[in-house]
Amino acid sequence: MTANLLDFDLEGLAVFCEGLGEKRFRATQLFRWIHQRGANDFDQMSDLAKSLREKLKTTAHIAALPVLSQHMSQDGTIKWLFDVGDGNAVESVFIPEDDRGTLCVSSQAGCAVGCRFCSTGHQGFSRNLSTAEILAQLWFAEHFLRKHLGTDERVISNVVMMGMGEPLQNYSALIPALKAMLDDHGYGLSRRRVTVSTSGVVPMIDRLAQDCPVALAVSLHAPNDALRDVLVPLNRKYPLDELLQACERYLAHAPRDFITFEYCMLDGVNDQPEHARQLIDLVQRHGRQGLRCKFNLIPFNPFPASGLLRSPQPRVQAFAKALLDAGIVTTVRKTRGDDIDAACGQLAGDVRDRTRAQERMATQRHAHEQVIRFTPVTPSKDPSQ
Ligand code: SAH
Ligand code: SF4
Repeated sequence: MTANLLDFDLEGLAVFCEGLGEKRFRATQLFRWIHQRGANDFDQMSDLAKSLREKLKTTAHIAALPVLSQHMSQDGTIKWLFDVGDGNAVESVFIPEDDRGTLCVSSQAGCAVGCRFCSTGHQGFSRNLSTAEILAQLWFAEHFLRKHLGTDERVISNVVMMGMGEPLQNYSALIPALKAMLDDHGYGLSRRRVTVSTSGVVPMIDRLAQDCPVALAVSLHAPNDALRDVLVPLNRKYPLDELLQACERYLAHAPRDFITFEYCMLDGVNDQPEHARQLIDLVQRHGRQGLRCKFNLIPFNPFPASGLLRSPQPRVQAFAKALLDAGIVTTVRKTRGDDIDAACGQLAGDVRDRTRAQERMATQRHAHEQVIRFTPVTPSKDPSQ
């Protein structure tokens, strides 16, 4: 097996080149060919000595992931399903907007966290992606889009690690991939334009601050531990106070002066005025004058096995207003790519349910319903509520 050069950040590629008896600066040339030009054939690399090209042909390759399908939405969103072997597949989504192009990238096949409202979580965990498999999603999408749009200019300006999987549970593969995204010889994205989204792996948030402090999004989804324990089971290990303290520490290193909190609006579960009050209290308790944060309210994208419903629009607006009135910057996320199942949490791939997550979730639903009953809410029947 030869090495897939998509597995390396620039430093890793320099070490690889040194192993071939080549100077480190050759790695920079090679890295630029791969990531900036989208080359996958060593014969294309005209400024590399023929002897080096020959050496590379016997020791290395540059391989994207096989594309199983590609769907284009009415709104320009594109979703790719990539084959990662053994019956596993992962998805990436390109979301074009007026002033940017965002790629949503997967970090694992399936996910071990098992959030109730997430289609990936319902599949259970298959395996971590390698650095090459993470980076191949960006490499393929960027160079496909340039060809498709007939441009030499960069198309993808932002990357969000919000596809399938928990990126901070695949830390060692994630870091070189992030470094290649940021590298001026790679994709040259600024730290503010690369976002890691996490359900709250506290020790890894601290490590990310040291190793590669990009923008951080934290999937909160509940304002108290009792509810979050059920919605985001990782909360039982890293409860809210610990998580918010980690966010506070991260702010000292973050490229933006706020943390983004994602909050998926679930009808009758976490969308009541009481929940907004608890959230305000939670963020005000942390930091010197409250934790510097922004809320992004995500309309829940339903899927049958979840047994959950999307909060009605007026309720989302009322929730946003409560946070705004307390001085917290709050936005409501537009859903994109709905018609091709490319919206948040719909990324399902074709991962086998190896860990019997679906069975487990079904038995846990009972406990979940009990928690909902503890909270003084009645799920609305009238969608205008
Ligand atoms: N594991 C990471 C990143 C992937 S999930 C995390 O949890 O942050 C990316 C985002 O999509 C998270 O905020 C997640 O909570 C949200 N999400 C998951 N399922 C969803 C659904 N069905 N509808 C809307 N958002 C969802
Ligand atoms: Fe995993 Fe994120 Fe889905 Fe939770 S929301 S199951 S952490 S991918």
